[in-house]
Amino acid sequence: MKTITEGPREVPVVASADVVVCGGGPGGFSAAIAAARHGAEVILIERNGFLGGLATAGLVAPILGHTASRAHTAIVEGLLREITERMHSLGGAPSWQEALQEWGIRFDAEALKIVLDELCEEAGVRLFFHTWVVDVIKEDQVLRGVVIENKSGRQVIEGRIFVDATGDADVAYRAGAPTTHGRPFDGRPEAMGSFFHLAGFEPLSEERAREIEEMVREEMAKGRFHFYNAHFLNYNAHHKDHTAANMTRFGGDPVKAVELTRAELSLRREVWKLVRWLRANVPEFRDCYVQQTSIASPRESRQVVGPYALTGEDVRTGAKFPDAVARGSWWIDIHCPLGRTYPVHLCIKECASGESCPYWRAEHERMYSREELYPPEGDWYEIPYRSLLSIQIPNLLASGRCISATHEGMAGSRVMGTCVAIGQAAGTAAALSLDAGVGLAELDVARLRKVLSDDGQLV
Ligand SMILES: Cc1cc2nc3c(=O)[nH]c(=O)nc-3n(C[C@H](O)[C@H](O)[C@H](O)COP(=O)(O)OP(=O)(O)OC[C@H]3O[C@@H](n4cnc5c(N)ncnc54)[C@H](O)[C@@H]3O)c2cc1C
Repeated sequence: MKTITEGPREVPVVASADVVVCGGGPGGFSAAIAAARHGAEVILIERNGFLGGLATAGLVAPILGHTASRAHTAIVEGLLREITERMHSLGGAPSWQEALQEWGIRFDAEALKIVLDELCEEAGVRLFFHTWVVDVIKEDQVLRGVVIENKSGRQVIEGRIFVDATGDADVAYRAGAPTTHGRPFDGRPEAMGSFFHLAGFEPLSEERAREIEEMVREEMAKGRFHFYNAHFLNYNAHHKDHTAANMTRFGGDPVKAVELTRAELSLRREVWKLVRWLRANVPEFRDCYVQQTSIASPRESRQVVGPYALTGEDVRTGAKFPDAVARGSWWIDIHCPLGRTYPVHLCIKECASGESCPYWRAEHERMYSREELYPPEGDWYEIPYRSLLSIQIPNLLASGRCISATHEGMAGSRVMGTCVAIGQAAGTAAALSLDAGVGLAELDVARLRKVLSDDGQLV
């Protein structure tokens, strides 16, 4: 590859804080708010102009992982409950009690944006929007700062503890710390996807809605559309004047801009194929329109390597740990890494691809079958504090979907309710370790668990 020498350049230090959180998604905003509430000076860096990550830019809904496996008892409360209640007061989510009766927390992404702005402001979190974390400053293995890029150019933000909540473990990767990428077999991560909202169609009876989805499924079977399901009338949306569909799929690597670009183009093309077909073939959809589409959204990319990696066995057996700092209940939900669509859905023993998939041919003896994916009913697994640490960088915590986990383990722990619980733990750990003057790895985890519990979290 052709290379060009860029440096050397002087880079100004524009800010410093006790805790620098990189990425403002479910794993990041929660870490920033928790650390600030426990007395740390916090900077949160986010490349978008708002918080929420895939919950807002990705239109991902509902928030999963708030209740025990296939049950209605809460396993995550704390900040998640507080955020839900704030959104409820704005008409942007159900009440907490209502949410417990549903499989996920429906919400309005615009309500989430303003709630997060307000919570950060109240906690004293300093926000850097429209800013990318592009590199790190290190002394030996200790992080001293992150290099950022925004319209002002290249700058440095210094800190004492850093939280990698970029989803893609950008900070750990730039620091040269060990990370994994996708499944070990071929490095492929779970397929990307996107959400889209449709509006402008006539009211439908349940029977008619099922009939129309069946028509779409038939077209998928003929190869007209490349979706992995036909639930385009799925009312994941909080407001009932539009649908919120999660049916697109693209197999690719979300840390390569070229593949992300191809994903954007392909995902939008599929949505518009569907809309054109609906307008022409379904009378109730004559005037339907695309209200909005999300960015191409990664399910998986890099994971930070910590002293413990959460595994698929942990997820499906409901593993418990003495250093547990969060709970999860979502199952081993691996979206075909090749990006194959209907009738292929999950990467499981019963996959319809069978012999035509190289992974299935090599691994099917070891793959999970459909019945083996779930934690025991009414139960949950725990996320150990060790999965938030890096084996190399002593002042780095991972949060959200890029914690230390295997391909199968993160397929469960990646959902947003779990990421918020992990973030609350990461932010609290950062503040407590600074307060106690000890390294992250030496932190008294019993005390961390006590503080999380006093803050309303279930650990
Ligand atoms: C198609 C799809 C459907 C899903 N469905 C559901 C669902 O129904 N329910 C559910 O609960 N979960 C679902 N998930 C999973 C969930 O959305 C994510 O796993 C979760 O949002 C991860 O949170 P996070 O904070 O770790 O990462 P993200 O939500 O990805 O947030 C990362 C944040 O960091 C920012 N960032 C990244 N890199 C940088 C950088 N270098 N500099 C500055 N900022 C940066 C990003 O802009 C973003 O705001 C779905 C995911 C996908 C892709």
